[in-house]
Amino acid sequence: MTSGRPLPAHASVVVVGGGVMGCSTLYHLAKLGVSDAILVERNQLTSGTTWHSAAQVRALRSTRSMTELARYSISLYPELEQETGQATGWINKGSLSIATTPDRLVHIERQVVLAKMFGLTASSISPADAKDIWPHMNAGDVIGAAWSPDDGRVSPSDLCAALIKGAKSRGAKVFEETGVIGILTEGGRIAGLETTRGTIRTDAIALCTGLWSRDAAAMAGVDVPVWPCEHFYLLTKPIEGLNGNVPTLSDHDSHLYIRDDSGGLLVGSFEPMGKAIAPETLGEDFAFQLLPEDWDHFEPMMINALHRLPALETAEVKTLLNGPESFTPDGTFLLGEATETRGLFLGCGMNSVGGGAGMALAHNIVHGHMPMDLGEADPARFPGCWNDADALAERVPEVLGRHYEITYPSRQWTTARDLRPLPLNAVWRSERAHFGQVHGWERPLYFGKTSEPTLGFGKPDWFGAVADEAVQAHTGAALFDQSTLGKIDVTGPDAERFLDRLCTGDLRRPPGSAWFTLMLNPRGGIEHDMTVMRLDDESYRLSVGTGAVKRAIAWLNRHQAENERVEIADATAGYATLALAGAKAPQAAEMAGATDILDLKYFRHRETEITCVANRAIDLYATLAGAGARPAGLFAQTAMRIEKRFLAYGHDIDSDTDPLTAGLAFALTWDTDFVGRDVLEQIRDTGPAKSVVTVLFDDTDAWPLGNEPVYRDGRIVGQTTSAAFGHRIGKPIALAVVERAAAETAVEIDIAGSRHSARTQPGAAFDPAGSRMRKLMEAGG
Ligand SMILES: Cc1cc2nc3c(=O)[nH]c(=O)nc-3n(C[C@H](O)[C@H](O)[C@H](O)COP(=O)(O)OP(=O)(O)OC[C@H]3O[C@@H](n4cnc5c(N)ncnc54)[C@H](O)[C@@H]3O)c2cc1C
Repeated sequence: MTSGRPLPAHASVVVVGGGVMGCSTLYHLAKLGVSDAILVERNQLTSGTTWHSAAQVRALRSTRSMTELARYSISLYPELEQETGQATGWINKGSLSIATTPDRLVHIERQVVLAKMFGLTASSISPADAKDIWPHMNAGDVIGAAWSPDDGRVSPSDLCAALIKGAKSRGAKVFEETGVIGILTEGGRIAGLETTRGTIRTDAIALCTGLWSRDAAAMAGVDVPVWPCEHFYLLTKPIEGLNGNVPTLSDHDSHLYIRDDSGGLLVGSFEPMGKAIAPETLGEDFAFQLLPEDWDHFEPMMINALHRLPALETAEVKTLLNGPESFTPDGTFLLGEATETRGLFLGCGMNSVGGGAGMALAHNIVHGHMPMDLGEADPARFPGCWNDADALAERVPEVLGRHYEITYPSRQWTTARDLRPLPLNAVWRSERAHFGQVHGWERPLYFGKTSEPTLGFGKPDWFGAVADEAVQAHTGAALFDQSTLGKIDVTGPDAERFLDRLCTGDLRRPPGSAWFTLMLNPRGGIEHDMTVMRLDDESYRLSVGTGAVKRAIAWLNRHQAENERVEIADATAGYATLALAGAKAPQAAEMAGATDILDLKYFRHRETEITCVANRAIDLYATLAGAGARPAGLFAQTAMRIEKRFLAYGHDIDSDTDPLTAGLAFALTWDTDFVGRDVLEQIRDTGPAKSVVTVLFDDTDAWPLGNEPVYRDGRIVGQTTSAAFGHRIGKPIALAVVERAAAETAVEIDIAGSRHSARTQPGAAFDPAGSRMRKLMEAGG
């Protein structure tokens, strides 16, 4: 392309990597008016993973934002073709998902419901109708299906050509055969990059280096936990009777996707355990290359394929294509600015939605924020332990396999566990905890496990254990391990002024105070919710969510003015925190000798033995257990928080939710000036359009999981965001975001295609002391 031309000395943004992610980011940067953006690619455009992608495009994703990105991609492809005159190979033939097991049927029913809630076209169809759509399949064992007409596929190389054409027409430039060999930073910010063809100064880099991203980001001192896996698809020579393009057939019980390709069949797999591959074995010159065929590994998939596709028996195999593709530890890509280095924007770990993700990354670079909340792709969600090569190589084969697994509630990962044991890990094991991995930590979900829990969509077999823990936490004394909550110390002469500027509450409170507050973005959305403790005149401790600590520290660092004398430090690992709850908690605390906390009022703190240095945790636990306290896990805690309408960040609220919609007005102090205040004033004057409410189910056998549509008078008016069985109220319960008019009314919730009657209410379902506490919180003490 422009490999012979000299590189510019400076560019506003440099995109590194010429796969679909880099091409899309460049196009959208140019479209947003960055006319001097350049792309550097060490080999040729599309030569990494992109050229051999099967390039199916599915509109439905697990969340609304991800679906928006996929939907954007689908609208972009034909538009791009019109704009540039370059074909993208967009073929909109739809996709057919079949179910051969009852649980898969529930899964696809849930998907149809989700699709409708997100405004997509999707329908449940009979096995006979499925056979009509895909006559070449053996439908003998099919028990149901879902039809998604919006889906399709592109030609990845043509798509990139169109994106580049569109970008160049707006001034962008592309330099192939130009490898990045160093990233320059100054004062924690991107300053430029060194390439095989010279140095370029720049303020922003979009790192779109595919499976090589971990090494590429390391050049800037940034952790990017992505690792490649081998990905297989079989190609056959033309098959008689297979005429024209057909929809994609998703046979996920067989771990397969199937479609036509040049008159033959393309049969790809996400087998239960993939094969990891070390990026260094591929080398820097791995361009337009593939990995060796592995028929032994593919054999079980081949058997499945032969069952589904009788025509395959006699088909001539062209190749078993094996290409590397990168995955993150949770399967979702990384999108956004790195927490460690300002100006380094990551578009890494992609295995889908390239077009839309490039739009979002360009938006982030130009406007300083994502076009919508994309917390699930936030690079800050991974703690440092995930950048470990061994952990990644162990996890990503399971991630590849999960891609087509049934999304059972509360299913846990089986690989790369025990990365971050809690100080009380040995104690929790002796209490037979069932653990879940949260931000790398091993957290007890419930206790008294006798066997691995059965996966399913109905009443779980741990129901009784969790019910007992909830009762213990209500009427007795229960201990919840809260050590994973992020603890951030903000200290220095300007700490009060600094935090007061960012937080919605009044920070000028005496040492010993503790209170709930928020940090908002300039659009009035909640970026962080936290409990603040004032330790002394110059020091505060912020307690944030388990997964929020890296993001919160980055937020604080980014908002610190140069002349502000403030130190920000992560104190999480230094402390074990036990939450002692229940009617008998005071006696247990007293028996444990922590008498000085008994006269503490609500939302006050005092240094005592209850949050202790990590190496004293076992002694503390033994003392409290001796005083009658019993351990309780995250499932009981979640059920109780939903009853109390305590909102969880990333579930019930996110950076698109303002505090008035969330019912968190008590955390706002209108007489101080804080980030986001102007927008909130407007919302206060007009009233928020939506509300976060409690949903109480009439049917005690309903099993809501969250992410279900809320219907009122036959129309979708919102969606559930968290759900559980409320053991203190004896009913299933959920939190939901609904239109304001539906905040207190009869509704129906669609769970996997069945409607369940329920009632919404603005307040908590179970909160006997709530009004008194709320008043105390409002009064700050
Ligand atoms: C067999 C297979 C089937 C697939 N099927 C689908 C599908 O059906 N649907 C779907 O959505 N996705 C599919 N994918 C995934 C999809 O192909 C990828 O998500 C996508 O191609 C990744 O694009 P990328 O731009 O992130 O990475 P890449 O295409 O790998 O691009 C990264 C580029 O960065 C360059 N680079 C790396 N380091 C440097 C450096 N230091 N300096 C300069 N350049 C550098 C590389 O040379 C490379 O060209 C499939 C993948 C495989 C392997």
